[in-house]
Amino acid sequence: AAKETGRNNVQCYSARLHQHSQERANLAVQLRHALANGQLSLYYQAKLSIDEGRVVGVEALMRWHHPELGEISPAQFIPIAEDNGMIVPLGEWALETALQQLSEWDALGLPPLHMAVNLSARQFNSPDLRKQIKSALTNSGIAAHRLELEITESLVVQNPDTSIALMKKIQGMGVRFALDDFGTGYSSLGQLRHYPIDTLKIDRAFVRDLAISREDQAISKAIISMGKTLGLTVVAEGVENVDQLNFLRSYQCDHTQGFYCHRPAPAGQFVSWYRQHLSMQHSPCSE
Ligand code: C2E
Ligand code: MG
Ligand code: MG
Ligand code: MG
Repeated sequence: AAKETGRNNVQCYSARLHQHSQERANLAVQLRHALANGQLSLYYQAKLSIDEGRVVGVEALMRWHHPELGEISPAQFIPIAEDNGMIVPLGEWALETALQQLSEWDALGLPPLHMAVNLSARQFNSPDLRKQIKSALTNSGIAAHRLELEITESLVVQNPDTSIALMKKIQGMGVRFALDDFGTGYSSLGQLRHYPIDTLKIDRAFVRDLAISREDQAISKAIISMGKTLGLTVVAEGVENVDQLNFLRSYQCDHTQGFYCHRPAPAGQFVSWYRQHLSMQHSPCSE
Protein backbone atom coordinates (compact mmCIF):
# COMPACT_ATOMS: atom_id res chain seq x y z
CA ALA A 1 0.00 0.00 0.00
CA ALA A 2 2.90 2.29 0.81
CA LYS A 3 4.23 1.65 -2.67
CA GLU A 4 0.83 2.47 -4.15
CA THR A 5 0.63 5.72 -2.23
CA GLY A 6 4.17 6.53 -3.27
CA ARG A 7 3.37 6.00 -6.90
CA ASN A 8 0.20 8.05 -6.58
CA ASN A 9 2.16 10.85 -5.02
CA VAL A 10 4.65 10.76 -7.85
CA GLN A 11 1.86 10.78 -10.43
CA CYS A 12 0.16 13.56 -8.60
CA TYR A 13 3.38 15.51 -8.37
CA SER A 14 4.22 15.12 -12.03
CA ALA A 15 0.66 16.09 -12.98
CA ARG A 16 1.00 19.21 -10.89
CA LEU A 17 4.38 19.89 -12.40
CA HIS A 18 2.90 19.51 -15.86
CA GLN A 19 0.03 21.79 -14.98
CA HIS A 20 2.46 24.28 -13.56
CA SER A 21 4.65 24.34 -16.66
CA GLN A 22 1.50 24.53 -18.80
CA GLU A 23 0.31 27.57 -16.84
CA ARG A 24 3.71 29.12 -17.18
CA ALA A 25 3.73 28.54 -20.93
CA ASN A 26 0.26 30.10 -21.23
CA LEU A 27 1.32 33.13 -19.22
CA ALA A 28 4.43 33.48 -21.36
CA VAL A 29 2.31 33.66 -24.51
CA GLN A 30 -0.15 36.10 -22.94
CA LEU A 31 2.64 38.27 -21.63
CA ARG A 32 3.74 38.89 -25.21
CA HIS A 33 0.46 40.73 -25.82
CA ALA A 34 0.03 42.26 -22.38
CA LEU A 35 1.92 45.43 -23.22
CA ALA A 36 0.11 46.09 -26.51
CA ASN A 37 -3.21 45.30 -24.81
CA GLY A 38 -2.66 47.88 -22.10
CA GLN A 39 -2.59 45.32 -19.29
CA LEU A 40 0.67 46.55 -17.80
CA SER A 41 1.09 49.53 -15.54
CA LEU A 42 3.55 50.94 -13.07
CA TYR A 43 2.93 51.42 -9.38
CA TYR A 44 5.11 53.75 -7.36
CA GLN A 45 6.38 53.29 -3.82
CA ALA A 46 7.89 56.15 -1.84
CA LYS A 47 11.35 56.11 -0.27
CA LEU A 48 11.68 58.41 2.73
CA SER A 49 14.60 59.79 4.66
CA ILE A 50 14.52 58.04 8.02
CA ASP A 51 15.41 61.10 10.11
CA GLU A 52 13.06 63.71 8.65
CA GLY A 53 10.46 61.64 6.84
CA ARG A 54 11.08 63.57 3.65
CA VAL A 55 10.10 61.74 0.46
CA VAL A 56 13.33 61.41 -1.51
CA GLY A 57 12.10 59.35 -4.40
CA VAL A 58 9.99 56.48 -5.62
CA GLU A 59 10.56 53.00 -7.00
CA ALA A 60 8.60 52.01 -10.09
CA LEU A 61 7.10 48.52 -9.78
CA MET A 62 5.50 46.73 -12.69
CA ARG A 63 1.94 45.41 -12.45
CA TRP A 64 0.10 43.03 -14.78
CA HIS A 65 -3.66 43.19 -14.74
CA HIS A 66 -4.76 40.02 -16.49
CA PRO A 67 -8.32 40.16 -17.93
CA GLU A 68 -9.28 36.75 -16.50
CA LEU A 69 -6.76 36.03 -13.76
CA GLY A 70 -6.68 39.51 -12.22
CA GLU A 71 -3.49 40.87 -10.69
CA ILE A 72 -0.44 38.73 -11.37
CA SER A 73 2.54 39.40 -9.11
CA PRO A 74 5.81 40.52 -10.69
CA ALA A 75 7.44 37.84 -8.55
CA GLN A 76 5.57 35.44 -10.87
CA PHE A 77 5.72 37.15 -14.27
CA ILE A 78 9.15 38.84 -14.20
CA PRO A 79 10.98 35.45 -14.14
CA ILE A 80 8.82 34.33 -17.09
CA ALA A 81 9.64 37.53 -18.96
CA GLU A 82 13.31 36.96 -18.22
CA ASP A 83 13.13 33.42 -19.63
CA ASN A 84 11.42 34.33 -22.89
CA GLY A 85 13.23 37.61 -23.41
CA MET A 86 10.09 39.75 -23.04
CA ILE A 87 11.79 41.55 -20.16
CA VAL A 88 13.81 43.56 -22.69
CA PRO A 89 10.84 45.37 -24.31
CA LEU A 90 8.94 45.42 -20.99
CA GLY A 91 11.93 46.92 -19.23
CA GLU A 92 12.36 49.54 -21.94
CA TRP A 93 8.69 50.45 -21.57
CA ALA A 94 9.07 50.71 -17.78
CA LEU A 95 12.08 52.99 -18.10
CA GLU A 96 10.32 55.26 -20.62
CA THR A 97 7.06 55.35 -18.66
CA ALA A 98 8.65 55.97 -15.27
CA LEU A 99 10.70 58.92 -16.55
CA GLN A 100 7.72 60.37 -18.43
CA GLN A 101 5.76 60.13 -15.20
CA LEU A 102 8.50 61.93 -13.32
CA SER A 103 8.48 64.80 -15.82
CA GLU A 104 4.69 65.05 -15.43
CA TRP A 105 5.12 65.33 -11.66
CA ASP A 106 7.74 68.05 -12.20
CA ALA A 107 5.25 69.88 -14.43
CA LEU A 108 2.68 69.74 -11.59
CA GLY A 109 5.18 71.65 -9.47
CA LEU A 110 5.82 68.81 -7.03
CA PRO A 111 9.20 68.91 -5.26
CA PRO A 112 11.61 66.91 -7.43
CA LEU A 113 11.94 63.19 -6.72
CA HIS A 114 14.33 60.49 -7.76
CA MET A 115 13.05 57.57 -9.81
CA ALA A 116 14.29 54.03 -9.24
CA VAL A 117 13.73 51.43 -11.95
CA ASN A 118 14.54 47.71 -11.61
CA LEU A 119 16.81 46.13 -14.16
CA SER A 120 17.11 42.38 -14.65
CA ALA A 121 20.18 40.49 -15.88
CA ARG A 122 18.70 39.86 -19.31
CA GLN A 123 18.19 43.60 -19.84
CA PHE A 124 21.60 44.34 -18.50
CA ASN A 125 23.14 42.01 -21.07
CA SER A 126 21.13 43.45 -23.94
CA PRO A 127 23.33 45.46 -26.33
CA ASP A 128 20.67 48.20 -26.53
CA LEU A 129 20.68 49.07 -22.85
CA ARG A 130 22.70 52.27 -23.02
CA LYS A 131 20.72 53.48 -26.03
CA GLN A 132 17.46 52.78 -24.18
CA ILE A 133 18.60 54.70 -21.12
CA LYS A 134 19.78 57.65 -23.20
CA SER A 135 16.57 57.91 -25.16
CA ALA A 136 14.37 57.61 -22.05
CA LEU A 137 16.33 60.46 -20.47
CA THR A 138 16.22 62.59 -23.63
CA ASN A 139 12.52 61.99 -24.30
CA SER A 140 11.54 62.92 -20.75
CA GLY A 141 14.10 65.69 -20.23
CA ILE A 142 14.93 64.20 -16.83
CA ALA A 143 18.48 64.82 -15.54
CA ALA A 144 20.46 61.57 -15.43
CA HIS A 145 21.31 61.86 -11.73
CA ARG A 146 17.60 61.52 -10.87
CA LEU A 147 17.49 58.02 -12.33
CA GLU A 148 18.61 55.10 -10.20
CA LEU A 149 18.84 51.62 -11.66
CA GLU A 150 18.28 48.78 -9.19
CA ILE A 151 20.25 45.64 -9.90
CA THR A 152 20.92 42.56 -7.79
CA GLU A 153 24.15 41.07 -6.54
CA SER A 154 23.62 37.92 -8.59
CA LEU A 155 23.68 40.00 -11.79
CA VAL A 156 27.08 41.44 -10.94
CA VAL A 157 28.50 38.19 -9.58
CA GLN A 158 27.67 36.27 -12.79
CA ASN A 159 30.15 38.36 -14.76
CA PRO A 160 31.90 40.83 -12.49
CA ASP A 161 34.41 42.41 -14.87
CA THR A 162 32.02 43.01 -17.76
CA SER A 163 29.22 44.13 -15.45
CA ILE A 164 31.41 46.59 -13.59
CA ALA A 165 32.75 48.01 -16.86
CA LEU A 166 29.22 48.53 -18.22
CA MET A 167 28.01 50.03 -14.93
CA LYS A 168 30.87 52.51 -15.04
CA LYS A 169 29.93 53.56 -18.57
CA ILE A 170 26.31 54.09 -17.53
CA GLN A 171 27.45 55.91 -14.41
CA GLY A 172 29.52 58.11 -16.71
CA MET A 173 26.19 59.33 -18.14
CA GLY A 174 25.29 60.47 -14.62
CA VAL A 175 22.90 57.61 -13.79
CA ARG A 176 23.12 56.00 -10.34
CA PHE A 177 23.04 52.36 -9.30
CA ALA A 178 21.49 50.64 -6.30
CA LEU A 179 22.24 47.10 -5.19
CA ASP A 180 18.82 45.55 -4.49
CA ASP A 181 17.98 42.75 -2.03
CA PHE A 182 21.41 43.05 -0.44
CA GLY A 183 22.48 40.27 1.89
CA THR A 184 20.69 37.45 0.12
CA GLY A 185 23.23 37.03 -2.68
CA TYR A 186 26.72 35.74 -2.90
CA SER A 187 29.03 38.72 -3.05
CA SER A 188 31.43 39.06 -0.18
CA LEU A 189 31.66 42.31 1.67
CA GLY A 190 35.13 42.72 0.18
CA GLN A 191 33.80 42.58 -3.37
CA LEU A 192 31.28 45.28 -2.63
CA ARG A 193 33.89 48.02 -2.65
CA HIS A 194 34.67 47.27 -6.30
CA TYR A 195 31.08 47.77 -7.39
CA PRO A 196 30.28 51.20 -8.83
CA ILE A 197 27.11 51.64 -6.78
CA ASP A 198 25.62 54.58 -4.92
CA THR A 199 22.99 52.84 -2.84
CA LEU A 200 22.64 49.63 -0.87
CA LYS A 201 19.19 48.20 -0.22
CA ILE A 202 18.99 45.86 2.77
CA ASP A 203 16.76 42.94 1.84
CA ARG A 204 13.50 42.79 3.71
CA ALA A 205 14.38 39.32 5.03
CA PHE A 206 16.64 41.06 7.57
CA VAL A 207 14.10 43.74 8.41
CA ARG A 208 11.12 41.48 9.02
CA ASP A 209 12.12 40.17 12.46
CA LEU A 210 14.24 43.13 13.47
CA ALA A 211 12.32 43.72 16.68
CA ILE A 212 12.79 40.14 17.94
CA SER A 213 15.91 38.72 16.29
CA ARG A 214 19.31 39.67 17.69
CA GLU A 215 20.93 38.10 14.65
CA ASP A 216 18.93 40.26 12.26
CA GLN A 217 19.74 43.29 14.39
CA ALA A 218 23.44 42.51 14.16
CA ILE A 219 23.28 41.87 10.40
CA SER A 220 21.34 45.06 9.70
CA LYS A 221 23.71 47.09 11.86
CA ALA A 222 26.72 45.60 10.07
CA ILE A 223 25.29 46.22 6.60
CA ILE A 224 24.45 49.81 7.46
CA SER A 225 27.83 50.61 8.96
CA MET A 226 29.70 48.90 6.14
CA GLY A 227 27.60 50.69 3.52
CA LYS A 228 28.22 54.02 5.15
CA THR A 229 31.95 53.33 5.43
CA LEU A 230 31.94 52.84 1.67
CA GLY A 231 30.10 56.15 1.24
CA LEU A 232 26.85 54.54 0.12
CA THR A 233 23.28 55.53 0.86
CA VAL A 234 21.62 52.70 2.77
CA VAL A 235 17.93 51.92 2.27
CA ALA A 236 15.93 49.41 4.32
CA GLU A 237 13.27 47.53 2.36
CA GLY A 238 10.07 46.07 3.74
CA VAL A 239 9.63 48.31 6.78
CA GLU A 240 6.16 47.44 8.04
CA ASN A 241 6.02 48.85 11.55
CA VAL A 242 7.30 51.58 13.81
CA ASP A 243 9.54 49.23 15.83
CA GLN A 244 11.51 48.30 12.73
CA LEU A 245 11.69 51.97 11.79
CA ASN A 246 13.04 52.92 15.22
CA PHE A 247 15.72 50.24 15.14
CA LEU A 248 16.86 51.34 11.71
CA ARG A 249 16.87 54.97 12.74
CA SER A 250 19.00 54.20 15.79
CA TYR A 251 21.48 52.41 13.50
CA GLN A 252 21.59 55.53 11.28
CA CYS A 253 20.08 53.89 8.22
CA ASP A 254 19.47 56.63 5.60
CA HIS A 255 16.19 55.76 3.91
CA THR A 256 13.16 53.60 4.52
CA GLN A 257 10.84 51.93 2.04
CA GLY A 258 7.92 49.80 3.12
CA PHE A 259 4.23 49.42 3.79
CA TYR A 260 4.49 51.30 7.10
CA CYS A 261 5.10 54.59 5.30
CA HIS A 262 3.65 53.93 1.89
CA ARG A 263 2.31 51.03 -0.17
CA PRO A 264 3.01 50.90 -3.90
CA ALA A 265 0.19 52.77 -5.67
CA PRO A 266 -0.84 53.98 -9.13
CA ALA A 267 0.53 57.40 -10.12
CA GLY A 268 -2.64 59.35 -9.27
CA GLN A 269 -2.92 57.87 -5.79
CA PHE A 270 0.76 58.46 -5.17
CA VAL A 271 0.37 62.16 -6.01
CA SER A 272 -2.54 62.57 -3.59
CA TRP A 273 -0.58 60.86 -0.84
CA TYR A 274 2.53 62.91 -1.60
CA ARG A 275 0.64 66.21 -1.47
CA GLN A 276 -0.91 65.25 1.83
CA HIS A 277 2.44 64.16 3.18
CA LEU A 278 3.98 67.50 2.15
CA SER A 279 1.29 69.38 4.02
CA MET A 280 2.08 67.57 7.29
CA GLN A 281 5.30 68.83 8.87
CA HIS A 282 7.48 66.63 11.08
CA SER A 283 5.67 63.42 10.37
CA PRO A 284 7.93 60.57 9.27
CA CYS A 285 4.96 58.35 8.54
CA SER A 286 1.87 59.63 10.29
CA GLU A 287 -1.06 57.32 10.09
P1 C2E B 1 12.11 44.58 -5.48
O1 C2E B 1 12.75 45.40 -6.54
O2 C2E B 1 12.96 44.15 -4.33
O3 C2E B 1 10.87 45.44 -4.99
C1 C2E B 1 10.40 45.48 -3.67
C2 C2E B 1 9.22 44.57 -3.47
O4 C2E B 1 8.86 44.56 -2.09
C3 C2E B 1 7.98 45.00 -4.22
O5 C2E B 1 7.27 43.83 -4.59
C4 C2E B 1 7.20 45.77 -3.15
O6 C2E B 1 5.81 45.85 -3.42
C5 C2E B 1 7.49 44.93 -1.96
N1 C2E B 1 7.37 45.65 -0.68
C6 C2E B 1 7.63 46.96 -0.45
N2 C2E B 1 7.44 47.26 0.86
C7 C2E B 1 7.06 46.11 1.46
C8 C2E B 1 6.70 45.79 2.82
O7 C2E B 1 6.71 46.61 3.73
N3 C2E B 1 6.35 44.49 3.06
C9 C2E B 1 6.34 43.55 2.07
N4 C2E B 1 5.97 42.31 2.41
N5 C2E B 1 6.66 43.83 0.79
C10 C2E B 1 7.02 45.10 0.49
P2 C2E B 1 6.63 43.64 -6.03
O8 C2E B 1 6.09 44.95 -6.52
O9 C2E B 1 5.72 42.48 -5.95
O10 C2E B 1 7.88 43.29 -6.95
C11 C2E B 1 8.60 42.09 -6.74
C12 C2E B 1 9.88 42.08 -7.51
O11 C2E B 1 9.62 42.04 -8.94
C13 C2E B 1 10.74 43.33 -7.32
O12 C2E B 1 11.46 43.25 -6.11
C14 C2E B 1 11.63 43.27 -8.55
O13 C2E B 1 12.68 42.35 -8.36
C15 C2E B 1 10.67 42.70 -9.61
N6 C2E B 1 10.14 43.81 -10.42
C16 C2E B 1 9.06 44.62 -10.22
N7 C2E B 1 8.94 45.52 -11.20
C17 C2E B 1 9.96 45.30 -12.07
C18 C2E B 1 10.40 45.92 -13.30
O14 C2E B 1 9.83 46.92 -13.79
N8 C2E B 1 11.50 45.38 -13.90
C19 C2E B 1 12.19 44.32 -13.37
N9 C2E B 1 13.27 43.85 -14.04
N10 C2E B 1 11.82 43.73 -12.22
C20 C2E B 1 10.73 44.22 -11.58
MG1 MG C 1 13.90 47.03 -6.46
MG1 MG D 1 14.38 44.64 -3.21
MG1 MG E 1 13.22 41.55 -4.64
